[in-house]
Amino acid sequence: MVDSCQHCDQCRRGEEQLCREGNTVTYGGFDRVTQEMTQGGYSKHVVVRQEFVLRVPDGLDLSRAAPLLCAGITTFSLLRTWNVGPGSRVGVIGLGGLGHMAVKLAAGLGAQVTVMSRTPNKRADALALGADRLLISTDPDAMAQAANGFDLIIDTVPNKHDLNPYLPLLDVDGTLVIVGQIGPMDEMSSVPLLLGRRRVAGSPIGGIRETQELLDFCASKGILPETETIRMDQINEAFERMERSDVRYRFVIDMASLEGSAEAVA
Ligand SMILES: [Zn+2]
Repeated sequence: MVDSCQHCDQCRRGEEQLCREGNTVTYGGFDRVTQEMTQGGYSKHVVVRQEFVLRVPDGLDLSRAAPLLCAGITTFSLLRTWNVGPGSRVGVIGLGGLGHMAVKLAAGLGAQVTVMSRTPNKRADALALGADRLLISTDPDAMAQAANGFDLIIDTVPNKHDLNPYLPLLDVDGTLVIVGQIGPMDEMSSVPLLLGRRRVAGSPIGGIRETQELLDFCASKGILPETETIRMDQINEAFERMERSDVRYRFVIDMASLEGSAEAVA
């Protein structure tokens, strides 16, 4: 996000991501100053409104700070919105770029964190990232035992899927927040929502003030995304690997490698 209207009620309270007139996204957005399409951050320089410049704290590894501005703030913002702190019971569905940050940040805020996965394969990774346990969503007994056990479930699955198995896991007034799939979901029964006073919600990135708070929080706690740094000329290979979910957990492009690699950019 590089700009917003700066005068609507949401912008004035620091929620520029919710700008009534639409914020300007970093790439593929409409630039309200030049009237052109924004060209993104995959370049040596990017022009942003000065209010949108963030300070990376000293000591925060630059190569690992970048994903905080996307996966990091997306998960941090919802953790703050739903007041997650010590004692909160948080579930995370999906352990990719967003999911692994959700685990680290929720654990960093003092929550009890459970990763929900279809197979036990991710147990070691989940625990290493700071989760307390892995709940296997294909195990009916484990799912039944986990009923009513969560204040917040963060759903990072990036495609159309079924929420019905997860809704009974929420406690009264618990919320399942969608941050992965942008589009249709499978048909959902309202029964567990009505009877248990449960909620389904969504959340985008955060505002600039909150993003700075995240950077400062991560620097003070030593919380960083797991990243793999690549050269610009490895981008196609990285894209293929990303499509196979073969990345732990975010690729970072070293823009210094852009020197002399015009061929790769083309
Ligand atoms: Zn605005």
